[in-house]
Amino acid sequence: MSQLRWDPLKYHWVIIATDRARRPRDYMVEAEKGEITSCPFCYGNEDKTPGEIFAIRPHGPANSPNWRVRVIPNKYPALRIEGELNSRGYGLYDVMNGIGAHEVIVETPDHDRGLADLTPAEITDVLIAYRTRFIDLRRDARFRYMVLFKNHGSRAGATLSHAHSQLIAVPLTPPVAATEMKICRDYYAGKERCIVCDLIHFELASGDRVVKEFDNFVILTPYASCFPFELRLYPKQHSHDFVLLDDNGLAELAVALKDMLRRLKAVLNDPPYNFIIHTAPPMQQRLGKPDYWGSLEYDYHWHIELVPRLTQIAGFEWGTGFYINPTSPEDAAAFLRDAEI
Ligand SMILES: [Zn+2]
Ligand SMILES: [Zn+2]
Ligand SMILES: [Zn+2]
Repeated sequence: MSQLRWDPLKYHWVIIATDRARRPRDYMVEAEKGEITSCPFCYGNEDKTPGEIFAIRPHGPANSPNWRVRVIPNKYPALRIEGELNSRGYGLYDVMNGIGAHEVIVETPDHDRGLADLTPAEITDVLIAYRTRFIDLRRDARFRYMVLFKNHGSRAGATLSHAHSQLIAVPLTPPVAATEMKICRDYYAGKERCIVCDLIHFELASGDRVVKEFDNFVILTPYASCFPFELRLYPKQHSHDFVLLDDNGLAELAVALKDMLRRLKAVLNDPPYNFIIHTAPPMQQRLGKPDYWGSLEYDYHWHIELVPRLTQIAGFEWGTGFYINPTSPEDAAAFLRDAEI
C-alpha cells in the first residue's frame, strides 16, 4: 500500500507510491551527448568569458591557461552587482532592484569530464573555490544569502555541458532557506538539540536509508523524499556553516561527494541532477534586532541536497504541493548501496 510520509525538516507530506515501485531501469534515458561546438569554458578559450574572479592555477597570469578551477562572472547574470537595493513598497507588493552576484565555477579545464569523473584532489580544488567565493561575497552587506548549486545535464537546466556550478548571491533570504532555518530554530527552542543531529543519529541506527557512511560524512535518502533517488550529504559532526571546513575537511567532503555522484551515475546512467549547498547565511547585524540570529550556530546543520531529474512535476504536484514518489527511499538507498563504483 502507498504511504503518506511527513518530513519534519521541510514540513511537507509525500506520497510514496510503492504500488508503482519503479526501478532504476524505468528511469533510464539515453545519456546526453555534450555539444562539440566551441565551448567558452574549455582550456585555451579563457578570452571567450568575462575576466576571472578567482582561479586555482600553479603559475601564470590571470585569464591564461594552466588553471585547474576557474570562477568567472555569468555572462548573462540573473542579478547585477552594481547599484543600490532601493527596497520599497508598490501598493500591496514589494519590489527592489535586481542586485546580486552571479558567478560560474568551471570545475575542470577538460570538456569531457564531469564532476563525478574528477579525482578527489580535483574535487577538493572545486570545493576550495566554493569556500573562497562564499567568504568573499559575504563581505558585501547587500547580500543576505548565497545559493551554490549545480545543474548537470540539459534536463536539469545546464545550458553548457562543460562541468560547472553556479553561485548566486541574493539580497534576501530565499523562502526555502528561511523555512528550513525556522524549523531548526523552533526544534532547538523546545529540545536544545539540533534536529539534523537527531535525524542523523536515528538514520545511522536504522540503516534503511543509509547509502554510505564515512568517518565524518554520511549519504542518506530522505525518509519523505519528494523525488526518486533524492539524496542528502551531511557532516556527522554538528556544524552550521560549510565555510568552516578546513582543507582536510574539504578533502574528506570531496571523497564523499565523488562517491555520491559515482553511485548515481552507475545506477541511473549519468542522470541529469541538481544539487544545492544549504548552509548558514552571512550573519550580519540587523538594526534594532540584537538577537536576530539567536541559536543558529547550534540549531542549523549545513548539508548538500541532491535531486536527480527523473520525473516531471505534473498537475497534482503543482496544484497541491504533495509529491508522488514512485521509488521508496529504502529501495533507492539499496540500489545505490549496491552500486559498483
Ligand atoms: Zn568545454
Ligand atoms: Zn547538528
Ligand atoms: Zn536543506
